Amino acid sequence: MPERADASYKPRVDLLAGRVILVTGAGDGIGRAAALAYARHGADVVLLGRTESKLEAVFDTIESETRTRPVVVPADLQHASEDAATILYHAIRREYGRLDGILHNAGLLGPRTSIAEYPVADWLEIMHVNVNAAFIVTRALMPLLEESPDASVVFTSSGVGRRGRAAWGAYAVSKFALEGLVDVLADETRTGCIRVNSLNPGATRTAMRSAAYPDEDPGALPTPEDHMGLYLFLIGPDSQGITGERFDPASWAGPN
Ligand code: NDP
Repeated sequence: MPERADASYKPRVDLLAGRVILVTGAGDGIGRAAALAYARHGADVVLLGRTESKLEAVFDTIESETRTRPVVVPADLQHASEDAATILYHAIRREYGRLDGILHNAGLLGPRTSIAEYPVADWLEIMHVNVNAAFIVTRALMPLLEESPDASVVFTSSGVGRRGRAAWGAYAVSKFALEGLVDVLADETRTGCIRVNSLNPGATRTAMRSAAYPDEDPGALPTPEDHMGLYLFLIGPDSQGITGERFDPASWAGPN
């Protein structure tokens, strides 16, 4: 454990050297910032997302700034299936022979409307992208994670995944489901080398936040880069021994 596991945390520059980390939704927003931060700290990053041009741009930045070996995996998680996840497993095994972490970050907001009015098709899509895909991908990659001497799986939650609110619909329910997945998986892996935690980034300046709060001034919000200490801490070796916990930047910053 580092001296202080809080906002004063300073990750070593080679924190993730030799590690392979999968980031979903790596082309934009928080996922993009995390992929870049992980590569800048030495990780080979598997960049998974649905818009190939955005992933290629992240790939180019990593290639130009680091000596790590990223790969791009274009995949729409709306179509996540056992077969597709098995192909991903074989691709990672072939390319790197290991996997040391997953940041489940990809997410869909969906309609902001009441349960009574919520379109069923949207509900099913959001639950599939936000929850089912995270389960399907994690399940398929477990054999690789189990071979790692120190693996970390981080699921991205939300404030409304810890206390539901009107008109947050499938998004809120999907995040509650992820919190449950964290509890179950953390309990199942407690004696091994895999730790599993949830991370709620809180209000952050991204396209999703602007869609949810169109009248808000984005300039008043923290950027994805502001949160990267916590994202590095949880995916890297300094969080060894911490599992089944819920994190967010506000509690990480401490009570002052
Ligand atoms: P963005 O919308 O900016 O980025 C989301 C990323 O997920 C994009 O790269 C997007 O791809 C990808 N994605 C969406 N749907 C799919 C799909 N079907 N298949 C593959 N990739 C997909 O959101 P944020 O960066 O704000 O959010 C990241 C995570 O943080 C989410 O899980 C969100 O719920 C959570 N969060 C965010 C908060 C905030 O204030 N920003 C607050 C609390 C939680 P593409 O670029 O192609 O659209």
